[in-house]
Amino acid sequence: MEHQTTPQDVLKRYFGYPGFRANQEGIVNAILQGRDVLAVMPTGAGKSVCYQVPALMMPGMAVVVSPLISLMKDQVNALSQMGVPAAYLNSSLSPAQQGAVMARAAEGAYKLLYVAPERLLMESFVQLCRDHCPSMVAIDEAHCISQWGQDFRPSYTQIIDFIDALPRRVPVAAFTATATAEVRDDIRICLSLERPHTVVSTFDRPNLRFEVRRPKSRKATLLVFCRARKESCGIVYCTSRKGVEEVCEYLQDNGLAATRYHAGLSAEERQRNQDDFLYDRKTVMVATNAFGMGINKSNVAYVVHYNMPLDLESYYQEAGRAGRDGEEAVCLLLYSPRDVHTCEFLINAGYQENAQIDGPTRKLLADRAREHLRQMTFYSTTTDCLRGFILRYFGEKAPLNCNNCSNCSTEFEVRDVTVDAQKVISCVYRLQERGRTMGKTAVIDILHGAKTQAIESNGFDTLSTYGIMADASKKHIRFVLERLIEEGVLELTEGDYPVVRFCAASGEFLRNKQSLRVRMPKEQSRQERAAERKRAAAAASEQGDETGLDAGLFARLKELRWELASEQNVPSYVVFSNHSLHDMCRKRPKTMEDFLEVSGVGQVKADRYGQAFLDAIAKYEV
Ligand code: ADP
Repeated sequence: MEHQTTPQDVLKRYFGYPGFRANQEGIVNAILQGRDVLAVMPTGAGKSVCYQVPALMMPGMAVVVSPLISLMKDQVNALSQMGVPAAYLNSSLSPAQQGAVMARAAEGAYKLLYVAPERLLMESFVQLCRDHCPSMVAIDEAHCISQWGQDFRPSYTQIIDFIDALPRRVPVAAFTATATAEVRDDIRICLSLERPHTVVSTFDRPNLRFEVRRPKSRKATLLVFCRARKESCGIVYCTSRKGVEEVCEYLQDNGLAATRYHAGLSAEERQRNQDDFLYDRKTVMVATNAFGMGINKSNVAYVVHYNMPLDLESYYQEAGRAGRDGEEAVCLLLYSPRDVHTCEFLINAGYQENAQIDGPTRKLLADRAREHLRQMTFYSTTTDCLRGFILRYFGEKAPLNCNNCSNCSTEFEVRDVTVDAQKVISCVYRLQERGRTMGKTAVIDILHGAKTQAIESNGFDTLSTYGIMADASKKHIRFVLERLIEEGVLELTEGDYPVVRFCAASGEFLRNKQSLRVRMPKEQSRQERAAERKRAAAAASEQGDETGLDAGLFARLKELRWELASEQNVPSYVVFSNHSLHDMCRKRPKTMEDFLEVSGVGQVKADRYGQAFLDAIAKYEV
């Protein structure tokens, strides 16, 4: 606020961080020089600091456009804790409260004001900003402006009218975690950014471990996974509301402190459940993708996708809610080929009726969504490094192995499955000769020689290919069949009941004696992996030990944090992140100066909480 203060001073004094992360400083300086900014940074990279620090240094109030109410509240809470005057304006406030915020804003009471995009169209708000021109306009989740993005919002396209209505052109800073070039171009054009300082951060989050599993029973796998992490918090995403209900109930019945969130619940229940999770009263949040945008909870130790999501953008954004505090975290995707059909169904249904979008645009959006889904499916089925796959998808170079994903820690072997492939193709051919086409499961059953009613009543047991793969496991047959479909050697029709079809490429495969070589997990290494998982689970349940931290002190500090947070009715992580508590355990500060050296401790928080934590640490040590 004062003249000579540097961005570093502000970062230290308010946020308690010793230095900027890569790219943050350049953005802050650009804004301070009056330049526009376009920043593409993954979730957890620290976008908010980039506009909050300059907002504190420039005269007047910054307007921050944000799509979600929960985000605004959370950010304003966190800023208030640091001693930064901030407020939000949205429909969750009564008209009288909104009036009060407007009046205070006109008096110059705030450094930051968070608003929803719709607010920018309201005349009273535009007038306020004409009379008191904001210091800057920051736009969070800026990809909502683009039809290429995964959450296009028509109201975002009108932000430019607001900017044009201001008495002078102020710096406009757009932030997003969606990295594709199309989205970036759309943001630049739709906001008329002028020679923006453009930053595309690496999307790598080294503290996140990526895992994809194809379990027989998703429920059982999930339960084992969550039980092994009972002391931590996590989010489980399901595609449907019904899925949320079932999974949440199942976890609760099995003794886990789970809660739920989806758009079908009342606003009160959603708020209550969200708070239970944010305030650590419940440790597992089972939710649809309606949950999480703008939730800034930093101590989420895992994110499980119970179903495959529609695209990698959504996946990475949702998975990225784990480990924001920089601590180790796991992102697990439970894949089933059935998910692909559910997603196709959602895409078809989603773009059928939408009064806001015209026909040709709808078709374009649906085609793009299908292409996104294809990439998501590749991620779910690849045997290559998962991190590498994600990074390359977002246009980055990546090493072949990251050694921190489930594919890198699995030993694969290349196997020639040409003979099996020929058997599968022949089976589909023989069926078609009889004028029949069947779904994948039926084809597998026939090859395996199953005695189902459908097989007997259709006389499929008289086919020459019936039971010719009786020695192979069904899983193996499915693996070969799916690989043939992925390679385009067999066709899978679209629709609610997709069937496998013999096509020109199938004929060529047989005629030209082509071969099929695949990478498969080694049998033995799978057992090893199971043993490894057991060890990992055991380690995870003895929290603290493996990091060399004093678990007793950490628990005591967590308790204290909880008490302090409850007194003020704010979530624990708003007081201090786990990362700050870990740093206290490591540094064991004795004086207030020491305490200010702890990561995440700014002046106001030191004044507010320093003594309580210093006392607790001193007491613990005697
Ligand atoms: P994003 O909006 O990009 O998802 P946030 O702004 O929520 O990320 O920041 C993620 C976390 O990183 C927050 O807990 C934030 O306080 C922390 N953080 C941001 N900048 C720094 C920094 N320079 N040093 C340490 N921690 C930081």
